Amino acid sequence: MGGNIGVGGAGHGLDEGGGLGSREVGRAGAGLGETGLGDGGRVINLTAHGIGPRPGRALDPGEDGTWVDVGRFERVLDAVAERPDVRLTFDDGNASDVDTALPRLLARGLTAEFFVLAGRLGEPGRLTVDGVRELVKAGMRVGSHGWAHRDWRRLTAAQANEELVRAHRVLADITGEPVSRVAIPFGSYDRHVLRRLRRASVTRAYTSDGGPARPDAWLQARTSLRHDLDDAWVDRVLAPPGPAIRLRRNTARLIKRTRGR
Ligand SMILES: [Zn+2]
Repeated sequence: MGGNIGVGGAGHGLDEGGGLGSREVGRAGAGLGETGLGDGGRVINLTAHGIGPRPGRALDPGEDGTWVDVGRFERVLDAVAERPDVRLTFDDGNASDVDTALPRLLARGLTAEFFVLAGRLGEPGRLTVDGVRELVKAGMRVGSHGWAHRDWRRLTAAQANEELVRAHRVLADITGEPVSRVAIPFGSYDRHVLRRLRRASVTRAYTSDGGPARPDAWLQARTSLRHDLDDAWVDRVLAPPGPAIRLRRNTARLIKRTRGR
């Protein structure tokens, strides 16, 4: 896309596609292939969180705004089923990943990538170890959302080790596969976070910046489903953005990538 104002010039090159050996696994037939993409080879990444009735635990701050009912969730899945350029991700490792999302994905022949909180497995309302295995067995991909849903801009060294080393090890043990992709909690990052992720051999990092992404980029923008989403929201999110929106998004991302003293 031509509207990527000088981001590469910042010396980070984070949007350079394909250089990190990223691959799409198990995505064939899922409408997530690398071919036939619209918008000049762009994909739209969506993020779902909790779905359906509220869980038997206190919600985290802001979590209410992204918790969707089943009807709205299905409305999005039906729209995505027609769109090979849209990818689905799930954050926070809620029990609804398996109980609610999985059967509805399978019914539509869709696959998705689930970013799990390794330190919260088995807690009330969260995925269990068996639930994670069920996702993998069903052809879904599992990545890390860290250990305890901390802001990665504010980690001690010990916490960073939990979030980016221990979490990956635990999830790899459960899934039987290396885990090298992450979704950044709260979409909160700066250049220090990104450097830490690269040192931890992360092969793909998903943000919450909104807007499209290059299919193989290391840093992938995503758009979160909202509790009040309607048909107009779906149309707007899945439509190609105009130049003014692109400019605003790209400027915001550039600031995030370079901030941090
Ligand atoms: Zn989260």
